[in-house]
Amino acid sequence: MELVNTHCHCVYSGHGVGSIAEYADAAAAAGLSTLAFTEHFPLSPAFDPDEYLSMTPANVDAYLAEIEAARAKHPQIEFITGTEMDYLGSLEDRAITDEALAPFRFRLLSVHFIDGWAFDDPAQRDRWEEPGAPDAIWRRYGELWCEAASNAHAAYDAMSHPDLAKKFGFYPRRRAPADAWWR
Ligand SMILES: [Zn+2]
Ligand SMILES: [Zn+2]
Repeated sequence: MELVNTHCHCVYSGHGVGSIAEYADAAAAAGLSTLAFTEHFPLSPAFDPDEYLSMTPANVDAYLAEIEAARAKHPQIEFITGTEMDYLGSLEDRAITDEALAPFRFRLLSVHFIDGWAFDDPAQRDRWEEPGAPDAIWRRYGELWCEAASNAHAAYDAMSHPDLAKKFGFYPRRRAPADAWWR
């Protein structure tokens, strides 16, 4: 069986642990044939004030260089230079150029923000506990996820984790209607 992983984060995304080299060594030890590094594409300071959610622009070159070093050390593994793009919808505040995207051969597109709120950030978890929140959050998450998937302006190769809203174990109360998006 071929082992492939196309979504991982190390220290470059702020909330991950381990270096590129450590991931590469672990991939080799586990017998992976392909590993895509998918650090979060830099967010603006408004969305990521603590540099906890994404790469910083200053770190991108080092990220790319460390992937090259991993390739040199483990030539039997296909290391894919990737990135995870956060879909921000109408709140997008970055001017993302083709040049900035060019190094990334594989782009994930994700919804980690609901109208500006990082709903899966443990430090911002409180809103889930407000009355009625899970119903409203799941509904809006579904809308944004579908909006992202169908957005012709966001170039991506694969959508990430459509089940992310379950992260903290809060679920909608009602059963899905017959025409619900997630059926
Ligand atoms: Zn990710
Ligand atoms: Zn993600």
